[in-house]
Amino acid sequence: MFNKILIANRGEIALRIQRACRELGIPTVAVHSTADAEAMHVRLADESVCIGPPAARDSYLNVAAILSAATITGADAVHPGYGFLSENAAFADMVEAHGLTFIGPTAAHISMMGDKIAAKTAMDELGVPLVPGSDGAVPDLDTAAKVADRIGYPVLIKAAAGGGGRGMKVAGSPEALEEAWRLARAEARAAFGNDAVYIEKYLDRPRHIELQVLADTHGNVVHFGERDCSLQRRHQKVLEEAGSPALTPAQRDALGQTVTAALAKLGYRNAGTLEFLYQDGQFAFIEMNTRLQVEHPITEMVCGIDLVREQIRVAAGQALGYAQKDIRFSGHAIECRINAEDPDTFTPTPGRVSAFHAPGGLGVRVDSALYAGCLVPPYYDSMIAKLIVHAPTRIEAIARMRRAVAEFAVVGISTTLPLHERILAAPDFVAGEYTIHWLERFVAAHRAES
Ligand code: ADP
Repeated sequence: MFNKILIANRGEIALRIQRACRELGIPTVAVHSTADAEAMHVRLADESVCIGPPAARDSYLNVAAILSAATITGADAVHPGYGFLSENAAFADMVEAHGLTFIGPTAAHISMMGDKIAAKTAMDELGVPLVPGSDGAVPDLDTAAKVADRIGYPVLIKAAAGGGGRGMKVAGSPEALEEAWRLARAEARAAFGNDAVYIEKYLDRPRHIELQVLADTHGNVVHFGERDCSLQRRHQKVLEEAGSPALTPAQRDALGQTVTAALAKLGYRNAGTLEFLYQDGQFAFIEMNTRLQVEHPITEMVCGIDLVREQIRVAAGQALGYAQKDIRFSGHAIECRINAEDPDTFTPTPGRVSAFHAPGGLGVRVDSALYAGCLVPPYYDSMIAKLIVHAPTRIEAIARMRRAVAEFAVVGISTTLPLHERILAAPDFVAGEYTIHWLERFVAAHRAES
């Protein structure tokens, strides 16, 4: 087992990883920018190192500073969390080149899945079903038109290096193709420095369903069931559920078998998530995330497992010690992502939190680095808390989430808590009847009313 782990992240996820380390008896090193000197993840760490000025590229993305911090503190492993350097294959490589363990998959698998075209090709070969689309990158507009004619409109042009919903444009008809093609490539070039794009059939009413997997270095691969992340705004998840209201246990088992067999063949290790669109009873793979996900707590609640602890154990070479049949799914869990944003306009609202009261009680979990008097800096992602509930049934989980949202007080800055209150009261949500397009329409309807 490791002697000391450096956590290359900030906010709630840095705290989340610290908690797992502490329970394992492993000291932690926090890194922070000058803007985060007073942050909770720094206060609670065993040691901390300032790695640069506020801008992420100078601190949380500063590989040299992070590796120096690991060396001077004598850490022997690095946990990247999510975001920042978590899916940077060069970083994973450098961590290992410095004699440290990267708590995650191999650099080769990170880079394979980071290229969405390579990821789709690999999954196709491993027997995982895909969204119909181009065979790899589409070199020019003429080819794009041919592919679109073959699969049928509407089509989606997507960046090979995509992430965070950027570099994605829909074309509803042949006339709209050129414009979408141009915009997607320009956005991909600006966001990722790589304008390679591919084409997929645009699905009009899918759900986003993803499967949590975990593999050790002894050839064991298990899955911890699915999460339904269909409630999205601008391709960003807002509220997630485990399990999906749309799936039966038999469908989950079948998908799980396909996926775990594929990853065993691939020789994958550590945690990962395969994302699918699900429509008309069919699953279609869209991408794999080679890291811990923001929404991992809902899986932990229904499976009764600490996924970060498991990541650390398998990174240290330990065997899982359990098989698929030992993993039981109990009850239902929901997560609300609470952002420092205006709940109507979604403009970020950084600033001082003058008072903070987190909800509690049976089946309520709050993953947050906020405290009364803390400052939410303007430099980073606006998510400030994850509110997670667990209950025996979905309807009880919804009731529990409603009362927890009502108890939650963040004073001094606006948050998206009122948006969650409205979603939880919406009949479509309560009925479990929503697709990935539902929330955009719901938000637009509310705006039109007010
Ligand atoms: P990113 O890596 O940028 O998040 P993804 O490929 O994971 O991109 O897609 C993000 C979201 O975009 C999905 O969750 C879904 O809502 C939407 N999406 C992606 N592919 C399609 C598609 N073929 N049809 C309809 N919606 C899609």
